[in-house]
Amino acid sequence: MNYIKRKSIWGRIPIGKGSDIMARRKKIYEGKAKTLYEGPEPGTIVQYFKDDTTAFNAEKKAVIEGKGVLNNILSEYFMVGLGNIGVPTHFMKRLNMREQLVRQVEIIPLEVIVRNYAAGSMAKRLGLEEGMQLPRPIVEYCLKDDKLGDPLVTEEHIAAFGWASQQDLDDMLSLALRVNDFLAGVMYGVGIKLIDFKIEIGRVYDGDFQRLIVADEISPDSCRLWDIETGQKLDKDVFRRDLGSLTDAYTEVAKRLGVLPKGATPMARPTLIN
Ligand code: 5GP
Repeated sequence: MNYIKRKSIWGRIPIGKGSDIMARRKKIYEGKAKTLYEGPEPGTIVQYFKDDTTAFNAEKKAVIEGKGVLNNILSEYFMVGLGNIGVPTHFMKRLNMREQLVRQVEIIPLEVIVRNYAAGSMAKRLGLEEGMQLPRPIVEYCLKDDKLGDPLVTEEHIAAFGWASQQDLDDMLSLALRVNDFLAGVMYGVGIKLIDFKIEIGRVYDGDFQRLIVADEISPDSCRLWDIETGQKLDKDVFRRDLGSLTDAYTEVAKRLGVLPKGATPMARPTLIN
């Protein structure tokens, strides 16, 4: 039988189109931008980054070639950096251009949003000018529910409906602010203002203890990033608001952070440095 060599947790695997290979794995969940497959060991998941791009609760859709590759390496970069400063995340290792091995978590059904400057839904809700610096970072919670359009909820709702305990809320707040300090600092270093971002948090069990860790992804899909000098948007708003090429914007972020070679041009299949 013919085999192809593939640098992968699956070792040497029979020749087949990428889609055949993926079809043989057990799919656990397919979201708008990622697909999750059962990992090689219990408690692990393979997270596959798709090129599919959606906005406004999937009312606007496109396939943007290369976006999944960029988000995979950018999310790896941020998660590894967080791990290095002691913020626990689900990231274990990148497997290839589009996949990473992550720890399985029990996802808390909330989007945790941190805002440093007014933008997006908060600017609209409170009638604030986009770009206005907030008096301090503001953390918001939205219920993860596509049918309801991920509505904003308060800590009262969260505790009363049991989506998270009071202890979880304290831990989520502390994780969110640590991620904010890290991301804002890293971005500032490459001339980018971190306007806001969204993270998801998961629960893991270590023996009798449970703790919360950062899960899902951190990428320009889930952040607002503006060039400090020009205010140019380098995030998913480029797609939401038809401001140009999304891969150009994400490639620029990746190049500034040093995860793509300086000379790389935006293209379908970006070249990785390592
Ligand atoms: P807003 O509430 O202003 O629409 O979003 C605040 C921040 O959270 C933005 O950086 C936005 O990209 C991110 N965000 C909010 N909801 C989602 C979501 O459902 N998916 C992703 N990828 N990011 C989100």
